[in-house]
Amino acid sequence: MRFDVITLFPELFNAHFVHGVTRRAFESKQVEVRLWPLRDFGDPPHARIDDRPYGGGPGMVLLFEPLERALAAIRADRAESVPAPLVNFSPAGSLLKQDTVARFASGTGAILLCARYEGVDQRFLDAHVDLELSIGDYVLSGGELPALALLDAVARLQPGVLGDARSHEQDSFSEGLLDCPHFSRPEQLATLPGSRAVPEVLLSGNHAAIQRWRRDQSLALTAERRPELISAARAAGRLDARDEAFLSGSPTRKL
Ligand code: SAH
Repeated sequence: MRFDVITLFPELFNAHFVHGVTRRAFESKQVEVRLWPLRDFGDPPHARIDDRPYGGGPGMVLLFEPLERALAAIRADRAESVPAPLVNFSPAGSLLKQDTVARFASGTGAILLCARYEGVDQRFLDAHVDLELSIGDYVLSGGELPALALLDAVARLQPGVLGDARSHEQDSFSEGLLDCPHFSRPEQLATLPGSRAVPEVLLSGNHAAIQRWRRDQSLALTAERRPELISAARAAGRLDARDEAFLSGSPTRKL
């Protein structure tokens, strides 16, 4: 798949493509990313890309025309019969969730617009943007981190990117629940005696019991922190009788 990114700060992206597990997806071009510096499409003579808002007030607004030139260049370069969706990041967008990530991960890509300042001339959004995404109820200074959040989440879902294909099956949200806690060596911590021992079952070698324990931990954590996800999982038919029995007991997390 191919993502084209319109940004004023292309250098913010580069470090991300050469580190960590997701590097595999970017280097193999399973997730191909092309950066389009908005400045290259600015108004002459100074490559202007922003101006003050009509009506006054603070901040600057990204201009319609440079954005339209950037978009036209990308569309020409992609030369697609079905045009790729144009995504704008905005606190006013719909909240980015794993189901949307999964849809992008199995799609053919998109064009990502990373705005700055006060945002984008509304006429550009109305004319060209297919989808607006928010990454949460807080305000960042630009769309680059949201775009990286989407790209990272999409990259780690590509086949072969995580060492073990089962990793994302147990991730938070993949089953509509939060992930269970994890433990690794050593079994005894000198600095934390007693209370926080590794749960016995994880050392038992009994895979069915381990599976069940992990599922219960996920259920309990989700019920405690994100009860609305339990309701949604129930509505989607993702909870079986055993899950319900556990939940109707006293699902406190016992580690
Ligand atoms: N005036 C705008 C904020 C602009 S912040 C408002 O109050 O909504 C500058 C840019 O950062 C935005 O245009 C958007 O592209 C990006 N941005 C900021 N917070 C974001 C968030 N929570 N999710 C997605 N994009 C965000």
